Amino acid sequence: MKAPYQHKWIDGSVMDMPVGKVVCVGRNYAEHARELGNEVPAEPVLFMKPASALCHLEAPLAIPRDRGAVHHEVEMVVLIGAPLCKASDDEAKAAIAAYGIGLDLTLRDVQDGLKEKGLPWEKAKAFDGSAPVSGLIDARGVSTRQNLDVMLDVNGEMRQYGHTGQMLFPVFQLVAEISRHFTLMPGDLVFTGTPKGVGPLQVGDRLAIRLGNFLVTRTEVV
Ligand code: ZN
Repeated sequence: MKAPYQHKWIDGSVMDMPVGKVVCVGRNYAEHARELGNEVPAEPVLFMKPASALCHLEAPLAIPRDRGAVHHEVEMVVLIGAPLCKASDDEAKAAIAAYGIGLDLTLRDVQDGLKEKGLPWEKAKAFDGSAPVSGLIDARGVSTRQNLDVMLDVNGEMRQYGHTGQMLFPVFQLVAEISRHFTLMPGDLVFTGTPKGVGPLQVGDRLAIRLGNFLVTRTEVV
């Protein structure tokens, strides 16, 4: 067993915050929904990852090698700082403590098999290490959060690019909507969906991941 994950600030210091669940949204960018042959949804497609899925993006990324393709999905991540239940958009906004960037790693072949059979996605989405997250930035320092670049380079080539203004469900509305289904607690994270360009990772890939013009993280797949 490796040391348990703790939330960190961008400077590497450990946050005084518990670690909880991760709530993810699928198909929050229209072009990404289309690239996987899915319909653009009328309400957010939600799923969860347990705390055991979390790891630090900066550390080398260890990916499963025996379960088919492991896809990258680069996503803006928000850290919840106060309890939220059936919240308004304004309450959701006030409860966001920090922003970061992460990868919603997905066993795509496994997911395709599960989807085909109408089964839940957890084996494809919630495995150990499936939620690498960057150091986080205090929400008070992020002013243009409705329109931030979300970008992933692999080996110096841009693979995924979008901006948060393209989200079908913008971040405050999304967090509020999630809180209608699941109470969010301090320390929970929300993965806000991936723009188009998802694809497989290979061992040795070098990744550069950017949010807006203030957060860049680099890592390598091992
Ligand atoms: Zn995703």
